[in-house]
Amino acid sequence: MNWEDFRAWGRRAADWAADYHAGLRDRPVRAQVAPGAVLSALPDAPPEGAEAMQAIFDDFEQTLMPGITHWQHPRFFAYFPANAAPVSVLAEYFVSAIAAQCMLWQTSPAATELETRVCDWMRQAIGLPDGFTGVIQDSASSATLCAVLTMRERALDWQGNKAGLSGQPRLRVYCSAEVHTSVDRAIWVAGLGEENLVRIPTQGTTRAMDAKALRAAIEADRAAGHLPAGIIACTGGTSAGASDDIAAVMDVAEAEALYTHVDAAWAGSAMICPEFRSLWAGVERADSVVMNPHKWLGAQFDCTTHFLRNPGDLVRTLAIQPEYLKTHGADGVVNYSEWSVPLGRRFRALKLWFLIRAHGLEGLREMIRNHVSWAQDLAARLEATEGFEIVTPPMLSLFTFRHLGGDDLDAHNQDLLNRINDDGRIYLTQTRIDGALVIRFQAGAFTATAEDVAMAHDVITELAEA
Ligand SMILES: *Cc1c(COP(=O)(O)O)cnc(C)c1O
Repeated sequence: MNWEDFRAWGRRAADWAADYHAGLRDRPVRAQVAPGAVLSALPDAPPEGAEAMQAIFDDFEQTLMPGITHWQHPRFFAYFPANAAPVSVLAEYFVSAIAAQCMLWQTSPAATELETRVCDWMRQAIGLPDGFTGVIQDSASSATLCAVLTMRERALDWQGNKAGLSGQPRLRVYCSAEVHTSVDRAIWVAGLGEENLVRIPTQGTTRAMDAKALRAAIEADRAAGHLPAGIIACTGGTSAGASDDIAAVMDVAEAEALYTHVDAAWAGSAMICPEFRSLWAGVERADSVVMNPHKWLGAQFDCTTHFLRNPGDLVRTLAIQPEYLKTHGADGVVNYSEWSVPLGRRFRALKLWFLIRAHGLEGLREMIRNHVSWAQDLAARLEATEGFEIVTPPMLSLFTFRHLGGDDLDAHNQDLLNRINDDGRIYLTQTRIDGALVIRFQAGAFTATAEDVAMAHDVITELAEA
């Protein structure tokens, strides 16, 4: 394809995307294909000769699209949202067209400087104090890995990268059992070992780490000759929105001089609404905070904002050059590849800039507030419906429930969930709460309406009765 053909196909692609979105409500949310169906429809060998664009496009529509689960469907209530506002899709189109590698300031000064600016916009938007500096990472998993590596280096007096971990005391990191699996992975990848991720028991309806138990675990580890390195707290855990008491965690961290990372990958978006900020009160004392505009806000994947109280610690951990000998940013030049594990960087700031400008914070707040109140309404309606039990109450727009029926409640609810997802009008996923299988609901799709959430009630109750 040359750029003249691109002109015509680019217009068709825009029409296709707008039509696709306009027709989403008529499609089943979760793909309804059998395993292997798509694979077996694809030729075994690659073509030797060039194929016509029309033929490729037809196969895309006929073979691949039936195997797509529609994450932008207004009735996608599974997992967490991965919203892509139209304006962010357009921005990605420009990013792809420019296709710049933005690893150093000089490899695209505008990309670096826009990143600095929009990260600071996001910092203000979510109410973090101006002592925090942001960077855009490819995912929250990467940001958490960066935080764990920083904890490790700081605890080892910056010798870990050089000398390795052998001969060192066991480095210990603390978190609750409600944190995302990206924390386990970060611990593995950083070479700390799963056994050194200490799980602190949780308590209360917020499923928060018990601060007393946290302090006791750290003291016991020190007495055993281990080396406590840091604490990972969460606001809005993946399973049911568990949220640590950040202020209580910070009291312990400060007394023990430990590095702290707060994972608010999903719930962080809600902090653009001041009324929700009490959920992470104390966050201003953390060293590192991550939230994903690519989840709820609508800046499509990948766009993770990672805020640091002292970016110098991260740069000292990750920069190949001994950057700590230089003054960062003093000459007006920041090289963001020194703030993340991969070298190459896409121009991710552009979609966040387009999004914030096109919707305004007020527009985004209205969306979040709607989702939260619709989810609360649905939870209240289900609770009032015979045979339903709310297992964990709404945390922002997320709650879990189950239907009481049959001898084996887990099997009954798994069966109900399967029938809901085979039906296709809505899409939900499951989790386990204190060992029991429950159904998760979250409202967060960019284009969801109150009617879409009301339909969830109809589908759930209709299929539970069937
Ligand atoms: C989604 C999520 C993650 C992982 O986010 P990625 O950007 O996909 O790596 C981590 N933590 C929490 C709490 C999440 O909700």
